[in-house]
Amino acid sequence: MIARPFLLRRLLELKLIDESAVAALEHDGIVTLADLELALAERRSRVAAPEFARAATALAQEPRPLTLGRAWDIVTALISAIESHCPLVQSAEASGSVRRAEPLVSAIVITGRAVDPARAVDQIAALPLASEILSRAARRLVLLFQGHEIDVRLAAPDEYGTLLFTTTGPASHVAEVIARRGPRLAASETDVYAHAGLAFLPAETRGTRDALARAASRSVPELVDRLHIRGDLHMHTSYSDGRDSLRQMVHAARMLGYEYIAITDHSEHAGASRTLTLDDLARQRDEIMRIREEVRDMTILHGIEVDILPDGSLDCPDKVLAALDIVLASLHEREGHDGARLTRRSVNAIRHPLVSVITHPGNQLVGRRPAYDMDYAAIYAAAAETHTLLEVDGAPSHLDLSGERAAEAIAAGVTLVIDSDCHKAPALDRQMRMGVGTARRGWVEPRHVLNTRSLSEVRAFLARKRAR
Ligand SMILES: [Zn+2]
Ligand SMILES: [Zn+2]
Repeated sequence: MIARPFLLRRLLELKLIDESAVAALEHDGIVTLADLELALAERRSRVAAPEFARAATALAQEPRPLTLGRAWDIVTALISAIESHCPLVQSAEASGSVRRAEPLVSAIVITGRAVDPARAVDQIAALPLASEILSRAARRLVLLFQGHEIDVRLAAPDEYGTLLFTTTGPASHVAEVIARRGPRLAASETDVYAHAGLAFLPAETRGTRDALARAASRSVPELVDRLHIRGDLHMHTSYSDGRDSLRQMVHAARMLGYEYIAITDHSEHAGASRTLTLDDLARQRDEIMRIREEVRDMTILHGIEVDILPDGSLDCPDKVLAALDIVLASLHEREGHDGARLTRRSVNAIRHPLVSVITHPGNQLVGRRPAYDMDYAAIYAAAAETHTLLEVDGAPSHLDLSGERAAEAIAAGVTLVIDSDCHKAPALDRQMRMGVGTARRGWVEPRHVLNTRSLSEVRAFLARKRAR
């Protein structure tokens, strides 16, 4: 059997096309599901038959989509291989749904810039890591890498903006932008949008309902960026279910240039594999005091991630919480409660004077469980009124609040915090980036996010609620 990209293999198996049609599709550059979706959105004639639209919908569900975290790791590994072994590729980056920070990724696309794209493709094809080439064209390679199909696309620098734009998607957005004034090859995405009479749109916003309207009216704000983030207020250590020691987490955070962090291990009754007893918490406080002596250029706040118990109370006595710098509360266990009861538990915690942050407020588990079906408007209103922060959690299993909910929360006047919820030192930056990407999907700006501010502003915000 000839190795083929997933799309062509499945279309053949479904008997939607025969071998001669495969050649025709390849000739048109339709070899991945993303190509088919774009061709359908642009109403290209070859795929006009309705069965292609039905196949695209069905196939989109088929390949077990990867989490953003897994896709991120695969992309990072392949890009670093390209950067070290393919000097003809000037730069390479993630495109497609990874670039849009979608929680589930159905297709991995990498785009690269090369003065001579055809020769650069030869270099990538020769990488020992690429176990199998599934499809090959002058500026493109579909290959298997770590068992996953990856679409590698190259363009000359003066056409790169168009390639990056079209591969980033989503298909409906690409088709709408191109339909305005026709296609044009451009060096940058800014030029692609300018040609269409639009302001540049950050990749993460392109799938949102109001994206085109904002671009047309030129009301695209500066969104929060990784470089705005001055600290990380949610991470775990080996005191609870984190892999690395407190000291390792502190030093890794310091290497990222953070001005402050909070250590927030799990309270005793959390379902985590290891949790903190009150004795552990006291030992942890002492260790933090010792490390503060060594690390003078970054402030270490001592916090906790406390469970919101079935009756809405917290899994830790108030007098212990009052001695901590920051208190995160989370609704880990549903306990069979319906949305109304979960909402009451959450609002109860929000109204608790010692709770600073509600972490992963909907407790989504990406690909496994949707966010709780709560009355989010009531949660936003209570959070805004009491100066309680709602979190955009960057752990790839959570990514919660979602971009959509983050947009609702800021519209309701809530201040957000973006955290890594990291359980191992090497992932601190990656998870913060995924949190930032998720917030950007909700048009979140630096002014909406507490941890873009200085330590004294952070402390003042936290003190304000306690003083109420
Ligand atoms: Zn949690
Ligand atoms: Zn956590």
